[in-house]
Amino acid sequence: MDPNVLHNIGYGMYIISSSKEDLLNGQIANTLFQITSEPVTMAVSINKKNLTHEYIESSKRFSVSVLSEDAPLSFIGKFGFKSGRSEDKFKDTKFIKLDSGCPVVLDNALCYLEAEVINRFDCGTHTLFLGSMTDSKILKTGRPMTYDYYHQVKHGITPESAPTFIKKEAGQIKGVNMQKYRCTVCGYIYDPAIGDPDGGIKPGTRFEDIPDSWVCPVCGAKKIEFVKTA
Ligand code: FE
Repeated sequence: MDPNVLHNIGYGMYIISSSKEDLLNGQIANTLFQITSEPVTMAVSINKKNLTHEYIESSKRFSVSVLSEDAPLSFIGKFGFKSGRSEDKFKDTKFIKLDSGCPVVLDNALCYLEAEVINRFDCGTHTLFLGSMTDSKILKTGRPMTYDYYHQVKHGITPESAPTFIKKEAGQIKGVNMQKYRCTVCGYIYDPAIGDPDGGIKPGTRFEDIPDSWVCPVCGAKKIEFVKTA
């Protein structure tokens, strides 16, 4: 079997949000699909260890914010690589609460929808939630970010908790001869050939030449938390 086959399956980039009483949380998910049109039924796969999983189980609601292509890596990192157990992801995030109490992230979103859970399937590490759409709104026009765009253009990585995680993916990122560095916190690889345009670092900048004030574009770790890749 060749696990690289799985890289050819198309996905999007979404923030799935939910609540438990007054507590709010959200996370990045790529495995979100429309299953039927009458009624509109959506399916999303969520890791059982994630706080959002606990909140969806509690409130039986989740919202989906469809991310725009111009969403910065730092924003994706906040919702994709950090846990709501250690930080309030909705602090400094523009969001609304729907009548049901379900939060919806508005930052970097083209549109949103809300769904009420009508069924769930135990998939081992993950639960597949089926939801009937209860609300939806277009926020702005633009191009929705695909998972492929996130990887190929934004040079984003996949956390181990994602349904589509493939081991050693980070080590497979192609680059040139300049020394690459890996974030020891989240696994992000700094590739000098790519730089970090979102963070003001031009392509061709050696890691050593990056200002000390620079932080990991994915998780916010400091420069000293990076190590040379093998
Ligand atoms: Fe990082």
